[in-house]
Parts: sequence; structure tokens; C-alpha cells
Amino acid sequence: MLGMSQTHLHCTSPEHHVHDAADFIAAVERACTQRGLRLTPIRAHVLRLIAEETGQPIKAYDLLEKVRLSDGPGAVAPPTVYRALDFLMMNGFVHKLESINAFVACHHPDSAQHSVPFLICNRCHKAVEMEDAEIVTALESRARALGFMPQRQVLEVHGLCERCAN
Ligand SMILES: [Zn+2]
Ligand SMILES: [Zn+2]
Repeated sequence: MLGMSQTHLHCTSPEHHVHDAADFIAAVERACTQRGLRLTPIRAHVLRLIAEETGQPIKAYDLLEKVRLSDGPGAVAPPTVYRALDFLMMNGFVHKLESINAFVACHHPDSAQHSVPFLICNRCHKAVEMEDAEIVTALESRARALGFMPQRQVLEVHGLCERCAN
């Protein structure tokens, strides 16, 4: 039967792991419960504002502006927003893209593994998080072979996304 209700098709693209902001917040809420973390109203609010960008990285300045203009929890001072951001980044729900100094929601908030490459489109600025443990492991083992103790990987690949390249 081909019912209209069958809208959730399986897709291998990392863009489709989380469908919209509401799904994303629900996934993060589940992850927080599982890991004993507290998603306070301000944390949830900041997360929602980032998630609503759907893959478009947002700069801290623009995020503060969105918080100011939104009807979220009262008047929120910038340090409070930054603390909420820290919590979200520390727990892998939001990632900072170092090369463009902007924030993006994680594509797979249930996972604890986030040392993954990002593909960043130079034209539409969409950022896609690759989940590729092989790349992470390869870098890690090559570094260790040189006697280097890796602690954090930042891997951001710039180029044109499929849509912009065609
Ligand atoms: Zn992630
Ligand atoms: Zn693009």
C-alpha cells in the first residue's frame, strides 16, 4: 500500500538524520535523559534557534540577535547564551565550525562520537557532518605512530555541495 502517511523514507545522507527542529529537540531530550544531563529552558531555546537554521551555520553575533528578538525565556544576557552554547557543544549537540567561526546543530545527537569531518559549501554555506569513523581512526593512528597524542580533531572541508555544484 502506498499511503500518504509514508513520508519517512530511509536515506543515507547525513542531512536526513534529523528531519526538523522539533524532531531534533526531541532527540536531544532523549539523549539528555539517557546521559543524566539537564536540558534547561535556555539550553533548549538556544538549541532550537540553531536547529531552525537546518544546516546553515550561525555566527555567535547572529545567534545573540535571534535570542534577543525571539520570545524565549525572558531577557537573556549574552554570557547566559554562551554558557548554554558551551553545554550544547560539550555534549555534542552543537558543533563549532572553526574555519568559519559559526555554530551548527549536530546531525546525530544520540551518538557520543563527533570527531568527524564537516563538508562546508562555499556558496550556500550549508554544513554537512560526515559520520566516518575510518577517517577519524586513520588520523588518530597516524598521529600515534608519530608519538603524538591526539585529543581533538577539527576537520573542515570547503567546496561546493551537490546542489550548488550542478
Ligand atoms: Zn555531531
Ligand atoms: Zn551549496
